[in-house]
Amino acid sequence: MKRKLGVLALVSMLAVLGSTTALAAPLPESKYAAQIANAPDVLETTFKINVVFVGYEMADIDMPNFEAELPSTYDPLVILPYIYYDISLPINIHGDYEYNYVFADSSFNDSFFGYLTSIGKDGTLTEFQEAYNTQSNRSITIEPPHSLYIDAPSTELWLMNHGRSDLGLDVANYTIFFVNWYGRSDFRFHVYTKTDDPDVDTGVNFGEVYDQTKMIAWGGSYGRTWFYDLSAGPEAWSANWDINNADVDGGGDVDYRMPPVWEYGNMTGYRPFDNLSGDLGKVARWLAIDLLFTTNPVYDPLVTEPFPGFGKRLFINMFEDDPNSNGPDWIDKPYIRKTMQHLQPDYKWRVTLKDQPLKGSGLQGPFRIWAGLRNAPGCWGPYGDPFAELFCYVDTHRNNYLPPIKPLQNKMIGVFAFNTTDERMGNLGGLLGYADDDWMSGTPTYVFEFDTPGTRATGFGFSTTTTHEVGHHIGLAHPHDGYDSEADALIDPTGDYYFVWTGDESHSIMQYIAVANQFGWFDRDNMNRFLTGRYLTRSSEIAAELTPRGNSRKANALLQDANARLDESRRAFGAMDYAGAAKQARAGFERVWRAAQLAGLNPPMAKPLPAGVRTNVPKMVDPIPHPFQK
Ligand SMILES: [Zn+2]
Repeated sequence: MKRKLGVLALVSMLAVLGSTTALAAPLPESKYAAQIANAPDVLETTFKINVVFVGYEMADIDMPNFEAELPSTYDPLVILPYIYYDISLPINIHGDYEYNYVFADSSFNDSFFGYLTSIGKDGTLTEFQEAYNTQSNRSITIEPPHSLYIDAPSTELWLMNHGRSDLGLDVANYTIFFVNWYGRSDFRFHVYTKTDDPDVDTGVNFGEVYDQTKMIAWGGSYGRTWFYDLSAGPEAWSANWDINNADVDGGGDVDYRMPPVWEYGNMTGYRPFDNLSGDLGKVARWLAIDLLFTTNPVYDPLVTEPFPGFGKRLFINMFEDDPNSNGPDWIDKPYIRKTMQHLQPDYKWRVTLKDQPLKGSGLQGPFRIWAGLRNAPGCWGPYGDPFAELFCYVDTHRNNYLPPIKPLQNKMIGVFAFNTTDERMGNLGGLLGYADDDWMSGTPTYVFEFDTPGTRATGFGFSTTTTHEVGHHIGLAHPHDGYDSEADALIDPTGDYYFVWTGDESHSIMQYIAVANQFGWFDRDNMNRFLTGRYLTRSSEIAAELTPRGNSRKANALLQDANARLDESRRAFGAMDYAGAAKQARAGFERVWRAAQLAGLNPPMAKPLPAGVRTNVPKMVDPIPHPFQK
C-alpha cells in the first residue's frame, strides 16, 4: 500500500513540474529530438563470414550439403525473459550473413602443418585418446606413445596472420578455419592446449594438469578468428572420443557429436558418420555463428548500465560458513576489477568486499532452506521452488546487505558469496554460482556464488566465478549455449546440439573449460553490439517523450550533439568498430538523457519489463563442469 502511494505522489509531482515549465516559457519543439525519435528502429548490417578449409580438398566437401546448414539472418533478442516468461525484447539489430568460401592451397597447407610440427611438443596420449583406442567400432588405433601438444592461441594467431597475408582474407570479418591434417604424410596425432592462465585463487593450471582441457579448437584471443580441427584429439570436452555410445550424458537421447575426421565413412558407430560436410555446416551455424560470433544476450545489458557520469560498483557480501577456511583467501579483487574494466573501459568499475559470519547475518536460515537442509516455510512459496529462497530473502532485506538505493549513484551489482562446506551445499552440491533474475520478467537481480573445499580441490575459487556470473548479470551468454533467431531455437549442449560443447574452446571467461579467465574478442564484440542497439533504441524512446515539449536552448544543443553522436555510432557499427559504436551510442544517449532531465523528466536506463507468465524452463545455473567432477 505504501509503495503505491509513493508512485502516485511521484506522478503528480511530474505533472506539476510539466505544467510549470509550459506556463513559464513556451518554446518550439526540438527538431533534433524528432530526428532522434524517428531514427530507424532497427540497425541493419551485413556480416561477411569467411569459411576457410585448410587441409581439405575441394572434393572432400559437398558444398550444397554444407551450405544447407547455414543461416542467412540474425535478429537478436534477450534470451532469459523470452524463455522464462515468454517476453520478447529484441535488440533491434538485423544482420544478413554472407559467406566467402576459401580452400587453402598446398603451399599454405605445407607451411601451416610445418608450423604445427615446429611448435608442438611430444607428450603421451591423453586418457581420452586412449579411451578412443578401446572403442570397438573405431576405424584406426592412435599409435602410442606420442601425441603432439600444440599451443592453441599461437595456432589461432598464425592462421589469422597468414590467412590475411597468404590467402588475402579480410580477417576483420569473422573467420572459421576448418582444419584437417589427417591423410598427409607429415600427419601427427595432436591436441591443442592453453596453459598460460592458471586460476588466480587456487593456482591450479587447468590447461596443464587436466587431460579434459586438451582441445580440438580455439579462437577469439587475437581477433575474429576461430579454428576447428577434426583431425585433432579426439577430446573429452565434446566427448567425440566415444563413438560407441549414443547417449553420453544420460539424457535419454542421441548426443550428436562430430567424430574424428577419419571416422567419416564408418557406418558402425552410434550413428552413421556419413556427412562430413553437413556436420561442418552444423558446427559453422549452431556453434561458431550462433554462440561465438553473433550471439544473443541472456539479460538486457541496458538494465545494468550506469547513469551518465557514474560507474559500476560490485558489492560482494562474503558469508563465512566453513570453520576451516577463510573466504577472502579465495577471492582476488584486483583481478575481478581489471577483468570487468577490460570488457567495459568507458566508465569506472569498483569492487567492494564485505566479509561476515553467515551465522547472525540473517541469511543462514534461508541458505539452509535453499540447500534443502532445513524444513521451514521461508519466503519461496509464491515462487513454487525452494531455489527462489536466496532471491526472495535478499530482495526483501536488500538494505541489510547493500548500500541504500539513491536516485543517482554508481550502478550497484550485489554479489552474495558463500564460503561453505560440501555438506552444507545440501541438494545443490557442485554448484558454483548463478546470476539470478527477478522471478517475473527475466530482469537481472543478484549474483549468488559458492566455494567449498571440494570446489577448491577441483581448482575453482571465487574469482573466476565472480567474473563469469557478473558477465551473465550484465548480459553475456556462454559459448556453449544460446539461441538461433532464424530457427527460433534454443541451443543447449545436449541431444542434437551436444557438439556445441566445443564452443568452450574459445577465449572467454564465459566458457567452462577453465583455460581462459578473461573476456575475449567475441565477448567484447557481442556486448558492444548489444549496447549499441539498446542505447540507440532507448535514445529514440526518450527523445519521443521530448518532441512535443518545449526544450530549452541548452536542451536543444544537447540534442543536436546527441544526434551527431548517434549517427557516428551507426557509422562505426557499419564499419565493424563495435567498441566505437557502443561508446558513441552511450555518448548520444547521455545527451538525450540530460536533455530529458532539463525538461523535468527522469527516465530509467531501461523501460521496466512487464511481469510475464513463468514457463517450466529450468533456471540457468553454473555447476562444476561435468568433465571435472570427481
Ligand atoms: Zn554461466
